[in-house]
Amino acid sequence: MKLNIVIPCFNEEEVLHETNRQLTELVDSMIKEKLLTECIILYVDDGSEDHTWEIIEELQTTNPYAHGLKLAHNVGHQNALWAGLEQSVGKCDAVVTMDADLQHDIHKIQDMVVAYQAGYEVVYGIRNSRSNDSGFKKRTALSFYKLMQKMGVDLIPNHADFRLLGKNALQALLEFPERNLFLRGMVRLLGFKENYVYFDCNERFAGKSKYSTKRMFSFAVDGITSFSVQPLRIITLIGVVCLGVAVAEMIYIIVAYFQGRTIQGWASLLFSVWFLGGLLLFSIGVVGEYIGKIYKEVKRRPRYIIEKQI
Ligand code: UDP
Ligand code: MG
Repeated sequence: MKLNIVIPCFNEEEVLHETNRQLTELVDSMIKEKLLTECIILYVDDGSEDHTWEIIEELQTTNPYAHGLKLAHNVGHQNALWAGLEQSVGKCDAVVTMDADLQHDIHKIQDMVVAYQAGYEVVYGIRNSRSNDSGFKKRTALSFYKLMQKMGVDLIPNHADFRLLGKNALQALLEFPERNLFLRGMVRLLGFKENYVYFDCNERFAGKSKYSTKRMFSFAVDGITSFSVQPLRIITLIGVVCLGVAVAEMIYIIVAYFQGRTIQGWASLLFSVWFLGGLLLFSIGVVGEYIGKIYKEVKRRPRYIIEKQI
């Protein structure tokens, strides 16, 4: 079978030679074991400002597996992955995506290919533990998965973008025309037969993480807003709660009035604050429901995905 390995690279000059050396060794051995017939390692340069592209050019001339794709400017990890996937469709039986920094255990690619050959269209790489992460990254990542689940987004905990997609899954994924990409959520929507491989996450081989805290936060916000209209519903809910408080308030005011415990003007003021607040929030929520519908429409996601036809 033919395999493509897509690797997004943003300012990765310090790691590329080593990544390429290890991958080439792996691919050589997989071809020798007849697990693969052909392989392309596609390095996608995501608008790097260092020598990443020069290194890719050099690798391309010296290594028959190495191919390169240079994006004109930095468009982010998810879009760079997408570019690589679009280049791979129709040219391979399966595609593996992984990071350039060797944090993903490349030897698990072999297990992924074996799983693919056993009939699994999607194979997720899942981290065993987060012992290499700082306490902060670990905590934020775990609470992110929890929050996403609460918002009704189906995600696999501890799975990033290290995965194999068979050609059917790849083709189906590329049917999603949306611009705000959140690949790990989108792949879950495909519904193909899936399997898992577990790996120990290494330290970054060299260089610094390209995801700053600010970028991580905006990635999380993107993930939620690309997949869930729950935040809009929450507004409606708060509106309803405020209206409930207004009603309770009214009952309390009437009782207080008959007991002679009221001051002039107090009742109308208190009631209108809660009532108007509740009404406003509720109305925004209703408008939100329609915006949610528009949002789902403009995504133009496929209505169904065909797995087989006989
Ligand atoms: N990356 C990219 N474009 C970006 C940021 C990151 O292509 O704008 C690539 C980066 O080169 C690496 C992968 O995405 O191959 C994951 O990034 P990184 O390892 O820095 O993230 P972390 O592992 O710290 O979450
Ligand atoms: Mg990394």
